[in-house]
Amino acid sequence: MRIAMIGTGYVGLVSGACFADFGHRVCCVDKDARKIDGLNAGVMPIWEPGLEALVKANVERERLTFTTDLPAAVEGAEAVFIAVGTPTRRGDGHADLTFVFEAVRELAKVMKPGTVVVTKSTVPVGTGDQIEAILKEEGVTGVSVASNPEFLREGAAIADFKHPDRIVVGAQDPQAEEVLKEIYRPLFLNRAPILITGRRTAELTKYAANAFLAVKISFINEIADLCEAVDADVQDVARGIGLDNRIGPKFLHAGPGYGGSCFPKDTLALLKTADIAGVDQRIVRTTVQVNDDRKAAMVERVSRALGGEVRGKRIGVLGLAFKPNTDDMREAPSIPLIHGLIERGATVRAFDPVARQQAEQVLSGVEFAKDAYEAADGADALVIVTEWDEFRALDLDRISSSLRGKVLVDLRNVYDRGEVEAAGLVHYGIGRGSPKAAAD
Ligand code: NAD
Repeated sequence: MRIAMIGTGYVGLVSGACFADFGHRVCCVDKDARKIDGLNAGVMPIWEPGLEALVKANVERERLTFTTDLPAAVEGAEAVFIAVGTPTRRGDGHADLTFVFEAVRELAKVMKPGTVVVTKSTVPVGTGDQIEAILKEEGVTGVSVASNPEFLREGAAIADFKHPDRIVVGAQDPQAEEVLKEIYRPLFLNRAPILITGRRTAELTKYAANAFLAVKISFINEIADLCEAVDADVQDVARGIGLDNRIGPKFLHAGPGYGGSCFPKDTLALLKTADIAGVDQRIVRTTVQVNDDRKAAMVERVSRALGGEVRGKRIGVLGLAFKPNTDDMREAPSIPLIHGLIERGATVRAFDPVARQQAEQVLSGVEFAKDAYEAADGADALVIVTEWDEFRALDLDRISSSLRGKVLVDLRNVYDRGEVEAAGLVHYGIGRGSPKAAAD
């Protein structure tokens, strides 16, 4: 199959490289010339485990190419995937489809009958219908529009793409269904479940999945607050409920609130879709509020660990990316925390294994450390915000001797209180009994 992938970001680049690895011929397009120049020189625009080797191997086999020239990429392609960003629209919180529609209008100029246009971007219900209308307006005929939402997670994107829990295809005609089945054939051979459904259902499935996961995270975060009030341990509660097959153990890690490029914007867009449809979604609405409040509350949590005042204090922060194994800073909980601490008069020295460059673009007034120990050096408290593996086995004695205040605020429950205390530090986890008890 010949495939064009429009948008070469986290989703487009991984999907394009994986499709090429399945044996298809893929041309990835992006309007960002720097990105494409870099890729043509073997430089990855994002940090994702295994991506560089996968791209290199498929470029060498001449199955994967990169260009800014959309008409050239689309020429001869049987399927054109749209994987451009769909950020939150300013003003009303709905998904901003500007990039999607711009791409469709460009496509329309060069589209040949028989091609299948597939939205891989997360798009609200009815976007496929709107794309069809634009193509019609531009005089394009004989083209199918399908939906194939992507469920990969940054940090494990290649494994997720190659071993998905399921593939969802929303197709309105046999032509689109056949082309997508052919593209994903290597995964059917591996027995990956495929759900073929209507286009609108596929579009909504992606939002429902992300909203459900957001609800699950917010649920355990609220249970963590209750654990603190009644001196119970959320880690054990999560394990106790997660072993129930009906609940499952994933997404039950209490923390500073969810961030990233998907959950915050997708929950907002789902609410907007529901508003337009006149159907309230109270659970998701509350989840959004709970999560916003939680992220904002982290400053106060650090302040409490420091006796109620951060002014004049130096805080070391470990982890900036919204989760480990990515450099993505979009909606990262580290951002409101660090800005809040600085606004209250603290100084912050932070370290992240890979996200520094991205962090520099969104954080102001922060010093960057070269490693975790430098972030801790002379600080009144050390705060773990992102649970990178390298923060799981810190030399706590070394941390303790370089910290000025003996306070570890562990927003990801990386450590047990006992081992932290053994190093002479006070441990403030999330939902691990009363933090006051920790200080006493
Ligand atoms: P991204 O911002 O990393 O990449 C989007 C790319 O599209 C950018 O490089 C941009 O330059 C390019 N682009 C925009 N308009 C273009 C045009 N007209 N022609 C060519 N290129 C164009 O975004 P992303 O994180 O890859 O997300 C893309 C979509 O996938 C979004 O809808 C997102 O919700 C969805 N999604 C993301 C993830 C994730 O983990 N990042 C997972 C599943 C789904």
